[in-house]
Amino acid sequence: MSLQNRDKKHLWHPLTQHKLHPETIAITKAKGCILTDENGKEYIDAIASWYTCMYGHCNKYITDRVSDQMQQLDQVVFSGFTHEPAIKLSEALIEILPKNQNKIFFSDNGSTSVEIGIKMALQYHFNNGEKRNTLIAFEDGFHGDTFGAMSVSGLSVYNGPFEEFFLDVKRIPVPNGENSHEIITLLKAIVSNNQVAGFVYEPLVQGAAAMNMHDAEGLNAILKFCKNHHIITVADEVMTGFGKTGKHFASLHMETKPDVMCLSKALTGGLLPMALTTCSQKIYDAFYSDDISKGLFHGHTYSANPLACTAALASIELLQSEEIQNNIKTIIASHQAFGNRIKHHPKVKSTRHIGIIFALDLNVEMQRYGNLRDKLFKFFMDNGVFLRPLGNTIYIQAPYVITKKQLQKVYQVIEEALEII
Ligand SMILES: *Cc1c(COP(=O)(O)O)cnc(C)c1O
Repeated sequence: MSLQNRDKKHLWHPLTQHKLHPETIAITKAKGCILTDENGKEYIDAIASWYTCMYGHCNKYITDRVSDQMQQLDQVVFSGFTHEPAIKLSEALIEILPKNQNKIFFSDNGSTSVEIGIKMALQYHFNNGEKRNTLIAFEDGFHGDTFGAMSVSGLSVYNGPFEEFFLDVKRIPVPNGENSHEIITLLKAIVSNNQVAGFVYEPLVQGAAAMNMHDAEGLNAILKFCKNHHIITVADEVMTGFGKTGKHFASLHMETKPDVMCLSKALTGGLLPMALTTCSQKIYDAFYSDDISKGLFHGHTYSANPLACTAALASIELLQSEEIQNNIKTIIASHQAFGNRIKHHPKVKSTRHIGIIFALDLNVEMQRYGNLRDKLFKFFMDNGVFLRPLGNTIYIQAPYVITKKQLQKVYQVIEEALEII
C-alpha cells in the first residue's frame, strides 16, 4: 500500500479539514531545494518548508556537526545544568541580534516563544508592582496556536471555540505609510482606558496575513510610543528572523529596538525544532531578585537541546558566510526583476517584496478563492513546484541556496498559472 494510503488510517494532520482535503503527498527524500515524493516526482521547495530550511534540506555542514554532537552529548536538563552548544549559540546570537538584546531563553516552537514573550511582558510589570493586563497587537497578525499566541493573533474563523478564553487584546492597524497619525491617536485612546503591558507584533511582514508588508517608519513611531509608555515591545521574528528581510533580523530596519524577540523557524536551518525568546537586560533585571517568586517559572523538557543548539550554531555560521549573503543579494535582485516583469499582467493586482520574500496578489474575485487556491496549488505541484497560495496571494520564500535555474522555474510556473485562472 502507498504511504499516502497508509497515512489515512491513523494520522491527523495540522491545519487540515480531512473531510475536504483527504489527500497528502508522501515525501521520502529532501536535498537542497528539492523534495522527492514516494513516486519519485521532484518538487522545488519554493517556501523552504514553511521558511525553515533556508540553507537547503539536509545541508551537510549542519548535519555533520549535529552528527558529531550526537556522539558527545544528546540531551540534558537545562535547569541547573548548562553545556557548550547552548553557550556557543548564545555568544553567536548576541553578535548578530540588535545591540540591546542580552539574555536568551529557550523553548521548542514559535508559538511557545511568543507565550514566553507575553509572560515576560506581563510579569515584568507584575514584578515591578504594577497591574497591567492588556496587550496590543496588529489586526490580522499571526503568532501561533497556543492560547496566548492565539489571543494576540487576528481573530480568525479557526479560533471560534476558544475566543472567550483569550487574553485582553486591543488591536491596531498596521502602518501603511499614510495612517501613522491615526494609529497614534488610537494608541493614546487605548492607553488612557487600559493598563497596557505589552505590544506583540510581526515586524515589517505579517506572514499568515498573506505576506502583508508594512512601513518601517510607521512601525518605528509605534515602538517609540510604546517605549514612552513603558509598554514592553515583543517582536515576533519567528518568520522574519535570520536574513529573510535582507538584514539578519527585521528589527534591524527600525531605529527603536524591541525589548523582547521571538525566534524559531529558520533558527536551526529546519533540522530540529527549537525556539528562543531573547530580551534586554532591563527585562531580565525585573526578574532577578532575592524573592524566588519573581523568577520566570517557565520551562520545557527539551529546552536548549544540545543537538538543536548545534544545528542553530551551524546555521548562523552559514547565514554569516559570504556565499549565503551573496545568494541573498542575488535573490533580491531577481525578485525585483520578476516583480517588474509581472506587475502589469492583467491577472496581477499588485506585487511586493522585501529581502527574499516575494508576494503577488491576484486580480480575482475573493469569493472564488477557496477553489482557486486548491486549483493553483495542484497546478504548481503538477508542475514540480511547491508553493502554498494564501487566499489570492502567491508568495515565494525559497531557501537561500536556490539555484538561478530553479528560481527561474518557480517564476515561470507562476506565470503559467496566471493563464489558467
Ligand atoms: C510560524 C509562526 C509562529 C508559530 O510558530 P510554530 O513553530 O508553528 O508554533 C509564530 N509567529 C510567526 C510570525 C510565525 O510565522
